[in-house]
Amino acid sequence: MPNIVIVGAQWGDEGKGKVVDLLTPKVQVVARYNGGHNAGHTVVVGGKKFILHVIPSGILHPGILCVAGNGMVINPAAFDREKAELEELGVAVGDNLVISDRVHLILPHHYALEALSEEQRGSRALGTTLRGTGPAYEDKVGRRGVTMGDLLCPDSLEEKLAEARRHYEALVLGAGRKPDVDWEGVVAELVTFGERHRSKIKDASLVLHQQMARGYSILFEGAQATLLDLDHGTYPFVTSSSATAGGVAVGAGVPPSRIDGVMGVAKAYCTRVGTGPFPSEAEEGAAEALRARGKEFGATTGRPRRCGWFDAVAARYATRLNGFDTLAITKLDVLDELEQIPICTAYRFEGETLDEFPSDLSVLERCQPVFESIPGWKAPTPGARQWDRLPAAARDYVERLSELVGTEVGIVSTGPEREDTVIRDQSALASWFS
Ligand code: GDP
Repeated sequence: MPNIVIVGAQWGDEGKGKVVDLLTPKVQVVARYNGGHNAGHTVVVGGKKFILHVIPSGILHPGILCVAGNGMVINPAAFDREKAELEELGVAVGDNLVISDRVHLILPHHYALEALSEEQRGSRALGTTLRGTGPAYEDKVGRRGVTMGDLLCPDSLEEKLAEARRHYEALVLGAGRKPDVDWEGVVAELVTFGERHRSKIKDASLVLHQQMARGYSILFEGAQATLLDLDHGTYPFVTSSSATAGGVAVGAGVPPSRIDGVMGVAKAYCTRVGTGPFPSEAEEGAAEALRARGKEFGATTGRPRRCGWFDAVAARYATRLNGFDTLAITKLDVLDELEQIPICTAYRFEGETLDEFPSDLSVLERCQPVFESIPGWKAPTPGARQWDRLPAAARDYVERLSELVGTEVGIVSTGPEREDTVIRDQSALASWFS
């Protein structure tokens, strides 16, 4: 049974949650491998909206085991809120969720450190979500992090927090501020959280290997996306984890040899949250129209997303890094009313045409998009559940994206609901789940 990775091909918010939800009935396990509650996956089912931050989107399906892999960072309070919200909507979150004992915790001092860091950057602020994610990963790399597993031994918690506290206080005092974290309160909350969720905290890599030994399939759900990957994204305007397919091996404890396929998820246009280069960004009028039609406001922060046109250069780069076997093109319906649709096919830099995504940010920042214009279809696409029910010009548009990226398109999404989806017969999907 195949293990498949779902990865965002752009700057996030591509609709990965919808695609994971759609493919979950074909597997037995859904595992997240990176990020924290800075991610927000919105899934709409029967008109009901579910927002997932750290709990894998597979949780909406009864009988599916969901796993939060070691590559994630979790804030206990945010986790409890998310769990309560899901339960209020009738979704059970119990033994169907395993949290890796190696997951690092996002704690109150991480929020304070992120706010301080953004403030100190001034006009070079990264536009992060201020959820403490970056500083939690910094503590992990600095070997002063506290893990979910640490909560199972509450007696040594205070001692384990000492290094993080010392580091935090040095930074805050150095900035001329007063540290104001109630560490005793933090310990008390962590102890009760550990007691409450003890049965969920496990060696997740072992759990995943046991599931594979039973012949079960795993869907790996990426958060954030390729161009925000810590190593391969538009550094420093990136997230703090490995969002690309390679992150699965590290962030879930499953070897690369057990990964059988990778699906990239890309919008039919492009968006970006936060600062940083965005070569195919549209002019404000067109961007505003895309934002309004695509409801491009962050699920986590409510911030308006920057909007632009499909960037084939960036999508080719994402294909190179992740090895996409197939693509899901989402939000095609957002383009339904347009006369003409620009696609960015290359960049211009100092008189030269660039076909490859520059690794040098100072080059990328000065790249100008080369656009080709494709006629729109001016007809509604939601409800077209078969490829040949899409307007001919819409099919041409999708085929052109596929040609420019060099990857087949296996799924076309034309609305937030599960039903507004075209799954193509002759795609890698068919061979994975035949
Ligand atoms: P993710 O983090 O990649 O899962 O993406 P988000 O959830 O942040 O953003 C995607 C948004 O688009 C969500 O509100 C989805 O419900 C919505 N969505 C997904 N697919 C489609 C689609 O094909 N058309 C439209 N109009 N909305 C979609």
